[in-house]
Amino acid sequence: MKQTDPMPPESAPFHMIDLIRKKRDGGTLDAREVGFLVNGAASGSIPLEQLSAWLMAAWIRGLSLDEIRSLTLAMRDSGEKFSPARLGKVAVDKHSTGGVGDKTSFLVAPIVAACGLTVPMISGRALGHTGGTLDKLESIPGYRTALTLSQFETVLIRCGASIVSQTPALVPADRVLYALRDRTGTVESPGLICASILSKKLAAGLNALVLDVKTGSGAFLRKREDAEYLAALMVATAEAAGTRTVALLTDMSQPLGRAAGNWIEVAECAELLRGNRPAESEDLRELSLILAGWMIHLGWKAATPEMGYALADAALADGSALAVFFKMIEAQGGDIAAFDDPAKFHKPGATQVLEAWETGFISEMDTTKIGWAVQRLGAGREKAGEPVDPHAGILFHARRGAHIEQGQPIATLYATRPALLAEPIALLREAITIAGTPPLDVPLVSRVFTRENAEEHLRNTIR
Ligand code: URA
Repeated sequence: MKQTDPMPPESAPFHMIDLIRKKRDGGTLDAREVGFLVNGAASGSIPLEQLSAWLMAAWIRGLSLDEIRSLTLAMRDSGEKFSPARLGKVAVDKHSTGGVGDKTSFLVAPIVAACGLTVPMISGRALGHTGGTLDKLESIPGYRTALTLSQFETVLIRCGASIVSQTPALVPADRVLYALRDRTGTVESPGLICASILSKKLAAGLNALVLDVKTGSGAFLRKREDAEYLAALMVATAEAAGTRTVALLTDMSQPLGRAAGNWIEVAECAELLRGNRPAESEDLRELSLILAGWMIHLGWKAATPEMGYALADAALADGSALAVFFKMIEAQGGDIAAFDDPAKFHKPGATQVLEAWETGFISEMDTTKIGWAVQRLGAGREKAGEPVDPHAGILFHARRGAHIEQGQPIATLYATRPALLAEPIALLREAITIAGTPPLDVPLVSRVFTRENAEEHLRNTIR
């Protein structure tokens, strides 16, 4: 662990009003100017209205590649950092831009740790229509996500993987800027998103990073070209910062796997870690092995991602990933007895089955709407800081492309209380289209960006 000494903003020869005017007029800030702004955001010495004005100017004018790099590095260095080099193993992680039923972390982290790498995973909470890794983990009785960096290190030494929340001192500049972006309509800027995500990942001192950038109806960036640009930008920026990085463009045109909620998602992963293979969880299993394969490859344990996939598959088959999973849960205070009979442990306040209203193929799933249905059942939150229901969520019995008969169960909804069922049922009926013909297949992974093609993509893309 290392405490950085950011340059005190007072000593820098800049005035925030000049940086706002510069960006407003389409200029480019240099690294020292960006450093002044970021340190001022972290220390509170720049007023929020000036930061907001600059963010809006950056949103409208865009940021150059150099500005995005400076912003990422300055934010990374704005607070406390984690140094996994002391653990004596290569540190790798993955980041997903967020989706519905996206629970690959619970498979990928133990699989990759079982293959001899260390996975220091600093994760987030449910946001909008997307679920949060920490909320899902906290559905395990006793599991603690708020560890100090030294407790984090202890779990990593013992288990090889640890999934925790961000400490208050890690990337404080992002905490301030992200909250402002949320309130000023400036979230959806590729440069600002890139700096926000990567500053946190790079502050964890990773050697390698695999980015899972979602596309499709449940993705944060719905337009494919926006997702591609963000993927290429993050790869180029992280590589320039010295972290081996790839980005996979992956499908979010339906929830990943069969569960979307908190406990039911963790239970779905435990089932896969136990070697079971329910058909509705096959996409989750496959994507997790692909992501793990890349992490194992980038972490120098396999010559190709395909060889990494084979090692990951073996760690799933021989039970070593399951052993890491349980060890990590216990090391973070969790009670693994809940996994003795996961269905028995699941105690929702109210349950309702949604049956097919006609015969046909499930041709479309508006996954953002499905995400809102999950949130309204009680599994997500309306405002930051609100509690979530560990037992709320949706279990899907049929997936995109399935042929279903009228009256056949499509999904089971679990809510905190009966009154919370009506709106999600209506949302699901709107979100799911039943048609006479099957939909076109969508590949699980549609594109991979590496350092080489990411640079090229950025050169050839006019923004
Ligand atoms: N997640 C982040 O951490 N930051 C963003 O800007 C968007 C998603």
